[in-house]
Amino acid sequence: MSHHPYRTFRTTVARIIALSPHFTRITLQGDDLEHFGTDGLDQRIKLIIPFADGSITDVGQFDESQSMTEWYRRWRALPDEQRNPIRTYTIRSPRPQAREIDVDFVLHGTEGPASAWATAARVGDPLFVVGPDSRSEEQGGGIEWRPGAATSVLIAGDETATPAICSIVESLPADAVGEVCIEVPTEADALAISAPSGVNVRWLARGSGAHGVRLSAAVHEWGLRRAAAHRDAAVSEAALAEPEGDEILWEVPDAVDGGEYAWLAGEAGTITALRRHLVRDLGIDRRSVAFMGYWREGRAEAS
Ligand SMILES: Cc1cc2nc3c(=O)[nH]c(=O)nc-3n(C[C@H](O)[C@H](O)[C@H](O)COP(=O)(O)OP(=O)(O)OC[C@H]3O[C@@H](n4cnc5c(N)ncnc54)[C@H](O)[C@@H]3O)c2cc1C
Repeated sequence: MSHHPYRTFRTTVARIIALSPHFTRITLQGDDLEHFGTDGLDQRIKLIIPFADGSITDVGQFDESQSMTEWYRRWRALPDEQRNPIRTYTIRSPRPQAREIDVDFVLHGTEGPASAWATAARVGDPLFVVGPDSRSEEQGGGIEWRPGAATSVLIAGDETATPAICSIVESLPADAVGEVCIEVPTEADALAISAPSGVNVRWLARGSGAHGVRLSAAVHEWGLRRAAAHRDAAVSEAALAEPEGDEILWEVPDAVDGGEYAWLAGEAGTITALRRHLVRDLGIDRRSVAFMGYWREGRAEAS
């Protein structure tokens, strides 16, 4: 039997660890996870949040003969009260042999169903995870980190991108060179990660400041240092040519053939502005900049 690239895994909460004031790691277990397939990095997954009684409306999510596109269409057609919320997260650590995965949740209150679920989660609670199936011949979907042969990297994001950034940084080769800027709510939210010696990791505590301000300042500061080092570099027309408008929230180049690579993820407004700064102000080739709006201030995720 051939397998679709994505399937829905039935899981339950095995462990809950408070990593910091705003990060909670939830370990999910389930026999199905034996077939969870991914290389980690910024692998995205979808979480189907159960109703209060732990149930979900069956639209064919567990029928392995159906693709996600098929059941998703039926899910969208459901009336609101029957439609379980679906939200996008990152796999922090896949351990298929132990039939476990870790997901690091940002606790941002109880307004959103995913954050509310994580805040109230107890060992044994069910959660449904849509992720890659190791038995499928189509692999590699949902990973946007594609640095190719880049010789230096800029990685910037907020707390929602922290799980992806931690996995990416841990995967860097020992001779990697670059800068990592991560904005988190408080100083106590800076997590322990090991990075190669040539990679400078900066945790930026927001405190009472507005979202994105410290991240933007850190990237601008990096840009000044870079500009001083690249004073004579020529900027090609292809690098500067880009579609106008702010509606693009997600663009990921396939690969770069050397030089710089930037990966930006987090609140859409902040990330879009940072990407514009890199491309328009600093003249960095847009084909070397991956940027991803992970969420948008004031707006629930449109599933
Ligand atoms: C590829 C990808 C990977 C992601 N990985 C992770 C991950 O590993 N861990 C993680 O925690 N998040 C991650 N996110 C972000 C997460 O999907 C959003 O934060 C999502 O909105 C959370 O859903 P919710 O039900 O809690 O809130 P929603 O119902 O979507 O939103 C409710 C309200 O909360 C606001 N809101 C949403 N997120 C935040 C936040 N972080 N801080 C403050 N206000 C917020 C919204 O603007 C809205 O006003 C990822 C997103 C993407 C696209």
